[in-house]
Amino acid sequence: MTATTARPAGTRGGGTAPVIEMRGIRKVYRSGRIAVEALRGIDLDVHPGEFVAVVGPSGSGKSTLMNLVGCLDTPTAGTYRLDGEEVSGLTLDRLADIRNRKIGFVFQGFHLLPHLAVYENVELPLVYGGVPARRRRERVMELLEQVGLADRAAHRPSEISGGQAQRVAIARALAMDPAIILADEPTGNLDTASGSDVMDLFSELHRRGRTLVVVTHDPALARRAARVVHLRDGRIVDDHGEPAPPPTPQEPPEGGPRIAGRGPS
Ligand code: ADP
Ligand code: MG
Repeated sequence: MTATTARPAGTRGGGTAPVIEMRGIRKVYRSGRIAVEALRGIDLDVHPGEFVAVVGPSGSGKSTLMNLVGCLDTPTAGTYRLDGEEVSGLTLDRLADIRNRKIGFVFQGFHLLPHLAVYENVELPLVYGGVPARRRRERVMELLEQVGLADRAAHRPSEISGGQAQRVAIARALAMDPAIILADEPTGNLDTASGSDVMDLFSELHRRGRTLVVVTHDPALARRAARVVHLRDGRIVDDHGEPAPPPTPQEPPEGGPRIAGRGPS
């Protein structure tokens, strides 16, 4: 027997404070006299430790939602609390700072810097975050170990496979120990075997207590997620899966203690 609830579809979940808390989010794109209503009232809670897939047809608002969740853009209306902080009214400048501390991005096309070694690509957020050099070195090596690429540290992105490049991008996304890992079609450019490696890595991060939000067309990836949120025409039309896990991680997140010295908070 399931109890009925008055809560909107996007807001069911566990008892912990949500890391993502959106209410009434709308986004209108205007170009000249044309207005496109890309999001039409999104209520979404994501709790720490959830693995959420966002699915929906092309044009349903997935990328728009990801841009807002990731503080790359601001909503036309509505409120957004990220990790306890109200961010919907902030300037893009302030958002850039929050983004570097709270969000780890993974993109379909990897977005590694081609002239930098694998090592330096993973190190970059730590440099921007003001992490001291010795701590950076430890952190980069532990991240590369975790994604199974310590032996590729000196390679350029052009010298590794697509699947390896995406694992480097995931290591980079984890570098600052963000509150959320946000991925937009992370397996979209990969063959089946490499895509499966990347999915295994996401599943492992989930087991370790990471919070993951992944936009995908890939049913295999959506099946890995504990919860699937369906968008259509800028609205959440379905939201199913496991409730948020209780906040009792069996192992600490990789990398041990949170990194100190990340600049102003
Ligand atoms: P999805 O990622 O699900 O394919 P998007 O979020 O990219 O959907 O787009 C949602 C709607 O908003 C679509 O109608 C799209 O054409 C429109 N849209 C997206 N970005 C812009 C933009 N920068 N300017 C105008 N319209 C946009
Ligand atoms: Mg898209």
